[in-house]
Amino acid sequence: MIQLYQPLNFMGMVYREIKQAIIDIEKMFGVLHREAEIKDAADAKPLAVTAGTVRFEDVRFAYEPTRPILKGISFEVPAGKTVAIVGPSGAGKSTISRLLFRLYDVSGGKILIDGQDIRAVTQDSLRAAIGMVPQDTVLFNDTIRYNIRYGRWDASDAEVEEAARLAQIDHFIRMAPMGYETQVGERGLKLSGGEKQRVAIARTVLKAPPILALDEATSALDTHTEHEIQGALDRVAKNRTSLVIAHRLSTIVGADEIIVLDQGRIAERGTHARLLAQGGLYASMWNRQREAEAAREKLAKMADSS
Ligand code: ATP
Repeated sequence: MIQLYQPLNFMGMVYREIKQAIIDIEKMFGVLHREAEIKDAADAKPLAVTAGTVRFEDVRFAYEPTRPILKGISFEVPAGKTVAIVGPSGAGKSTISRLLFRLYDVSGGKILIDGQDIRAVTQDSLRAAIGMVPQDTVLFNDTIRYNIRYGRWDASDAEVEEAARLAQIDHFIRMAPMGYETQVGERGLKLSGGEKQRVAIARTVLKAPPILALDEATSALDTHTEHEIQGALDRVAKNRTSLVIAHRLSTIVGADEIIVLDQGRIAERGTHARLLAQGGLYASMWNRQREAEAAREKLAKMADSS
């Protein structure tokens, strides 16, 4: 009986592992059925990245036909530069990065990379060219090494560790019970939002894509974590075309251009200094965030001294 039970037990385990892996992959790509709706054109060619310029031309989009989300968005991220998208919650910021990754097709206008419409190229080549650092990074129930290597399967152990160092997560990993072989996930090491995001950054370092799309986590991070993530990102973004969806304005002060999105339209655009001087929506968002940060710091100090 035991002899029969053991293989069954093993098969059960394998089944659970496979099922979990499928769930992880589904989570990673948003929703699977949505993926199926996006098809390669019959004559799709591989994307040829020459410089890495990203262009949105009068992009319109709606998840549901009756509710337009993006109402004619045009901007360019010149090769190697950083453009940040900011704006109130629900303005359509994350939608922009989803469209660039072609999780959905635009309803109007077009998105071009080095002059090629992303609908005319293969999805594989498009996604290979873009490093996505999403808001919520999905981790596999596997070792931390495996989770970083997901960025490039043929990376050596030394490369994985170098990527972790660049992403400023190496120190944290070395403190874990089994270092890089520590299991993460439900039954293993739990990572905070900031740590997960650094794993995503390490994956991107390994992938070394010409274009970077960063969707900053909405959750408030403490100043130290924010500083660490920022340092890691600055290194990854160097000399890469970067589109940053930002919630904390302090992280994008140095962007080459900041686009302020409001209700699916570009309300303002310019550098941090110019937008502040303009005294519009960006300036009021900036002032509000400064006040909130000052209040948080004051509270933290009061807690420390009590
Ligand atoms: P936040 O700052 O809160 O992250 P955002 O500016 O990034 O917001 P998006 O995530 O782009 O906003 O969403 C824009 C609008 O589209 C929101 O009103 C949201 O409810 C809606 N939306 C997002 N995803 C879907 C979806 N899968 N189906 C239908 N509506 C959606």
